[in-house]
Amino acid sequence: MNTHQPFRRRTLKQLAGMTALGAVNALRAPRVLAADKPARLSIPGVAGKVIQRKDADYEIWRQAMVWHMSKPKRYPDLIVQAKSDQDVIAAVNHAARNGLKIAMRSGGHNSNGSCLRDGGMAIDVSAMEQIRIDESKRIASIQPGVRSLELIQAAYAKGLAFPVPHCPSVGLGGFTMGGGMGWNWPQFGGMATHSIVGAEVVTADGRLRRVTATENPDLYWAIRGSGPGFFGAVTRLELQLYPAPKSIMASSYIFPLAALETVTAAIEAVRKNSQVARVEPILVLMHHPEVPADAPPEKSKICFFTAFAFEDSEQTARAALLPFAQSELASKCLVKMEYQPFAYEGLYDRYFSLNDPAGRCARYAVDNIFTNEPGKALQAIARHFCDAPSRDCHVLAAHNLRLQDRADACFSWTADTFIGPYAIWDDEKDDARNLAWLRAFLPMLDRFGKGHYVNEIDGQGNPDRYRQCFTDANWQRLQVLRRQYDPNGVFHGYLGHS
Ligand SMILES: Cc1cc2nc3c(=O)[nH]c(=O)nc-3n(C[C@H](O)[C@H](O)[C@H](O)COP(=O)(O)OP(=O)(O)OC[C@H]3O[C@@H](n4cnc5c(N)ncnc54)[C@H](O)[C@@H]3O)c2cc1C
Repeated sequence: MNTHQPFRRRTLKQLAGMTALGAVNALRAPRVLAADKPARLSIPGVAGKVIQRKDADYEIWRQAMVWHMSKPKRYPDLIVQAKSDQDVIAAVNHAARNGLKIAMRSGGHNSNGSCLRDGGMAIDVSAMEQIRIDESKRIASIQPGVRSLELIQAAYAKGLAFPVPHCPSVGLGGFTMGGGMGWNWPQFGGMATHSIVGAEVVTADGRLRRVTATENPDLYWAIRGSGPGFFGAVTRLELQLYPAPKSIMASSYIFPLAALETVTAAIEAVRKNSQVARVEPILVLMHHPEVPADAPPEKSKICFFTAFAFEDSEQTARAALLPFAQSELASKCLVKMEYQPFAYEGLYDRYFSLNDPAGRCARYAVDNIFTNEPGKALQAIARHFCDAPSRDCHVLAAHNLRLQDRADACFSWTADTFIGPYAIWDDEKDDARNLAWLRAFLPMLDRFGKGHYVNEIDGQGNPDRYRQCFTDANWQRLQVLRRQYDPNGVFHGYLGHS
């Protein structure tokens, strides 16, 4: 089921007026579900719907659990649409009593569709969407079904902001728990998971536990980075907010792919300027939107670089972007769009409410590395990128991540750049070609890798990849905590690890 607008290709100029991540992530999730038939089963204490495999509308609900079109062929016995903490507690107790293994779902955007498992119970908390903002403490208390757009709007109304995902429909549950590279990461605490300051969690014994740095600190540690392998049901997140920037500007530079070495060298040279550490720089290797899909790579593949400055005034935003304008990025590019102003509350309006070449809802697979050698890594994969089997396949490099390996979070890495190849295609018959293209990147990329981002790996193709998303020490601690809090294995682990 695809409830999206028909896909419209955009011109290069329109794309330049968009952004690198905008070009990648302009997407809408299918939130409106059809065939809302009465549930035939009820679970004591659960007010939300319960859908069983035998129900006529089961397949519609099952498919709607996963946002993209690569719907996994995995079939839970029950889908519970939780509406409250009480629903979640009752569902967890029911599952534990009846030997049903639980998978959790917030926004359904995970690329592996990890909320869908065979058998057991899927608890969907996407209808739990309450947001409370404490202006004085700069804290948002949200239920896990809240999406990026809803939080950005609620926070901005109070002059505050959060590093939300670059697409309006992503669920903040999975995004924050797995890491979260959100808007303005350099100035908003790096990965968004470090901005989780509290949570409420229903553990396998049916207890609702409050979690902070001092209350249940083990769970606090685990929530901050474990993502799709967490062993509990999160029903509330408390998120640190930041003052909303008053001026946002972006400069974009576009090159042929053949100039990649020049581009990466110029980006690295500019990033030596300490002022630039505040900026969010994103490079995308992609197909030129005005060139036919079958054009040769030298005529079709481009480097699309955008730097975003989030500042307190137009003057400081311009100053932050000036080093890019004075670099070879500006003097050697094919197209430039400098100092484009944005309104914070309109970020998604302008970039993300449109369908675009790279960010549409289609079949979808991704993997990644964190690295401190982005130039070398990108050059190592440039040739392979040209073999992309679909027009919308692309590679994204996000710099200035300032990753932190902290004692109070199981997010494990310290590195500076994320590089992720994205396979995006339409037809099931092309699955094998696109997945083979994606998977062939890994040996080329991994030798430059300092770890992987658990929210965007190809865990279906390679379950061991989850293990590689954590240091040995953090992985071991996660296993110990899982045994402690979920001794009977009520909650699924990572895909392929349950
Ligand atoms: C269009 C698009 C744009 C994206 N943009 C970004 C971006 O800008 N930056 C970025 O870092 N990532 C981005 N991502 C990746 C995103 O962070 C992951 O897909 C993330 O898993 C999505 O969270 P979700 O809640 O929507 O997904 P879900 O599929 O609902 O959740 C993923 C997993 O998290 C766990 N989980 C979710 N909710 C709960 C809960 N309440 N309790 C316990 N466990 C839970 C479950 O194991 C679940 O299987 C994007 C993905 C897409 C598809």
